[in-house]
Amino acid sequence: MFTVDNLKKSLQLFKEKIDKNKDYLSELDTPIGDGDHGNNMARGMEAVSESLQSKEPQTVQDVFKLTAMALISKVGGASGPLYGTAMMEMAKAAATTSEVLPILEAGLAGIEKRGNSKPGEKTMLDEWAPAIEAIKNGTLTDGSLESAVEATKEITATKGRASYVGERSIGHIDPGAMSSLYFFQSLMEAGVF
Ligand code: ADP
Ligand code: MG
Ligand code: MG
Repeated sequence: MFTVDNLKKSLQLFKEKIDKNKDYLSELDTPIGDGDHGNNMARGMEAVSESLQSKEPQTVQDVFKLTAMALISKVGGASGPLYGTAMMEMAKAAATTSEVLPILEAGLAGIEKRGNSKPGEKTMLDEWAPAIEAIKNGTLTDGSLESAVEATKEITATKGRASYVGERSIGHIDPGAMSSLYFFQSLMEAGVF
């Protein structure tokens, strides 16, 4: 179940993990991208944190909506509109349910639609899809999240900047999958599931 409290706690933890691993995320983005993923996410989550503090949203839907708006308006890179769309679709889903699975599935579908992408293309979807599958099966652990990220090494990128290097993307972890690991870890640590 999402509640205003556990969602706000999750986003706070996510921001902390992004800040702590900002340089690492940008390093992952260097061989297969433009080296800015950590900075993009840190800027975005700083804006999210400021917005949530000043506007004090009272529903799960509004927390997701403010998060979406901050990410979309403050992050220039691909990750801003993609995470932002995920959050906006989760806001819409939260209008009718507070259950975790349908809300996360709406987020995943939002990324697929905005990114014109599917799992298996070396993107954040290669963390979102297995994480959601594991939640469904009751098998989600830190280890399963980490294996999914590790598995992105084997994939040839066909979407986003990493697709420009084609097969040379093999052997490298996708930075958006790694930041998504922090997102799912944060949900777990905040007791969302
Ligand atoms: P940019 O590539 O514009 O510099 P970032 O570096 O912040 O943006 O984000 C890159 C991440 O965005 C990638 O690692 C990947 O996970 C994700 N990404 C890029 N394009 C897509 C897409 N079409 N669908 C899903 N995720 C994508
Ligand atoms: Mg980048
Ligand atoms: Mg960029």
